[in-house]
Amino acid sequence: MKAQTAACQVCGQAIPGRSDKKYCSDQCRSESNNQKRRGDPAERLRQEINGILRQNRNILRKASPWGKTTAQVDQLVQQGFDLRYFTHQYRTRKGNTYFFCYDYDYLLLPEEKVLVVNGQPYMQP
Ligand SMILES: [Zn+2]
Repeated sequence: MKAQTAACQVCGQAIPGRSDKKYCSDQCRSESNNQKRRGDPAERLRQEINGILRQNRNILRKASPWGKTTAQVDQLVQQGFDLRYFTHQYRTRKGNTYFFCYDYDYLLLPEEKVLVVNGQPYMQP
């Protein structure tokens, strides 16, 4: 049998030494891992959800840069707000549930209204 020289799976360079290696360097190994991760459906889903959460947070910030503001739910949804996604929730003693998107949160009010609140650290779980 002929001895085979392995080629790096990322850059194609010949790999010195043992022929069972797949990569010529640590750099190529981590690049290969990044490529796999980008193609991984679970990773794509995580990135998609992160994107939705960031968008929600930006819409809340626009609605209420500081303090509290009452808005129409419709207004937020039209800007792309997705009510299904939030980072965590906080239930007050009165039984109101605030939904958080990172440092901003909102409370659904009657009549399709929403109270948007600039994040309050004491509410963090
Ligand atoms: Zn390489």
